[in-house]
Amino acid sequence: MKCRSIIVWSLTVAACLLLGGGVTVLTAWGFAAYAERPSVTLPTDLSPNYKVVGWPVPEVPGWPAAPRDIAVNRLGGNTMVMATAFSPDGSSHAAHVIESGWPWPAMAQAVYWVYGKGPPLRKPDDSLKAPQRWGIPAGRQLPMTVLPLGFALNTLLAATLLLAAVQLPLALRRRARRKRGRCLSCGYDRAGVAAEAACPECGKLRAA
Ligand SMILES: [Zn+2]
Repeated sequence: MKCRSIIVWSLTVAACLLLGGGVTVLTAWGFAAYAERPSVTLPTDLSPNYKVVGWPVPEVPGWPAAPRDIAVNRLGGNTMVMATAFSPDGSSHAAHVIESGWPWPAMAQAVYWVYGKGPPLRKPDDSLKAPQRWGIPAGRQLPMTVLPLGFALNTLLAATLLLAAVQLPLALRRRARRKRGRCLSCGYDRAGVAAEAACPECGKLRAA
């Protein structure tokens, strides 16, 4: 492969990855803005088989180390995670997380609540308020927290599809030109030109 083709190829791959990242964000935002959110029901009793690993969000200072119970439900491109815990002082803590994206959850928004003796304390999350237009239901937020693994997988998948969409027509054109004995680079009719000779039109060799 010539130096120039390597540069063109690298730029094409980079552009597809960049666009793939954009597709990943827009897909996650689309599900967060439009799609129905799954309902979750917290178990009233902890099943012995139920494993509480930890909070679905970065640990909040002053909170119990792990939630008492946690419920997860996925519907379409939205996953709802709900976790609650009680402190010895009687206050209750809750984290509601909506993870959005397809096929994997790629972006998340979280809301934390503390119900104590005083009024409920709501920790604002970092999500953006969705615009009140384009038929978006009221009260929707756009997630801003990146879930690294899901984001990477969705971006790779979108980039691969974009790359295929770019390369497929070019590959088909080369195949058609090869069949009809034309120059693969410019389409010049090579009838009467020796196989090893460069193209009289663009100067490329047969293999190019
Ligand atoms: Zn040519």
